[in-house]
Amino acid sequence: MSERPFVEARDIARYFDVSRPIVQRLIAREGRRSLRAVDGVTFDIPRGTTLSLVGESGCGKSTVARLMVGLYRTTGGEVMFDGMELGAARADMAQRRRMQMIFQDPYASLNPRWRVRDIVAEPVRAFGIARGQDALDRVGAALTQVGLSPLDAQKFPHEFSGGQRQRISIARALSSSPEFLVCDEPTSALDVSVQAQILNLMKELQQRLGLTYLFISHNLAVVRQVSDRIGVMYLGRLVENAPAETLFRTPRHPYTRALMEAVPDLSMSGRPRTPVGGEVPSPINPPTGCAFHPRCPLANDRCKVERPEMILAHETLVACHAVQEGRAA
Ligand code: SF4
Repeated sequence: MSERPFVEARDIARYFDVSRPIVQRLIAREGRRSLRAVDGVTFDIPRGTTLSLVGESGCGKSTVARLMVGLYRTTGGEVMFDGMELGAARADMAQRRRMQMIFQDPYASLNPRWRVRDIVAEPVRAFGIARGQDALDRVGAALTQVGLSPLDAQKFPHEFSGGQRQRISIARALSSSPEFLVCDEPTSALDVSVQAQILNLMKELQQRLGLTYLFISHNLAVVRQVSDRIGVMYLGRLVENAPAETLFRTPRHPYTRALMEAVPDLSMSGRPRTPVGGEVPSPINPPTGCAFHPRCPLANDRCKVERPEMILAHETLVACHAVQEGRAA
């Protein structure tokens, strides 16, 4: 019998009401408007592995990140964590302490008026895990795990470089001994050389502590090193989900191929290129059928009216009529 996935998103959706005030709507005779940030996303993450979600800005990947740790409620679908529905466990601190989030900007996510010891100890205290010297011992251990010194606990965030601040963010996330980490663009605010150090650290921590990651990035090159599987999102939906090396070797969805074109340092030898133009459409008024059709070089009439469902093509889950019809090769 196959093992139950540790983390699952089952057809999750999150809509935001972006209607104008009622008086303006009455004057303009318009109804309510909703932004479908995430619109029916399904995936699972086995324990100890990494799923990365990639896509352009506005594709919904950061909203998925927040849904997976309960920072947003789902509009539809459910998040399952170790066999329990996350919404049902919202008030369950024991459940919530098993997951943590690392944010994009280490400058903005650390309180500048707090010493590092208080920043790193925050989850420990919030979840009632330890107090006093025990909490400080946990802080020292977490700082050591991320390559900093326990003595750094006395300092303030401004005394550290960007990479060191992201290490502090990781130490804060680790201090409550979570099993699942959601990492929302954790290296995008850092220099390239520092990015590599942080990614290596995260891989090392995963191996040492058996962590499960959901990794969010707009950059395919970044996620390649850290991912077991990669999911590609477009306008709130997952369009491709494949083992990392399979995705790089045989990208199937036209949008995935377009993203690969945007990565400057990939070896693309032998692979047909399908450059894409145009802007990401508004998620308030997405295109009919396949939302990618206005930008897709393989679009046909069917694509304009019928939304493609996910199909399994070898190891890859992909939502594309051209793949299904055998005309994407
Ligand atoms: Fe392109 Fe059609 Fe596939 Fe959408 S379904 S990606 S428009 S070929």
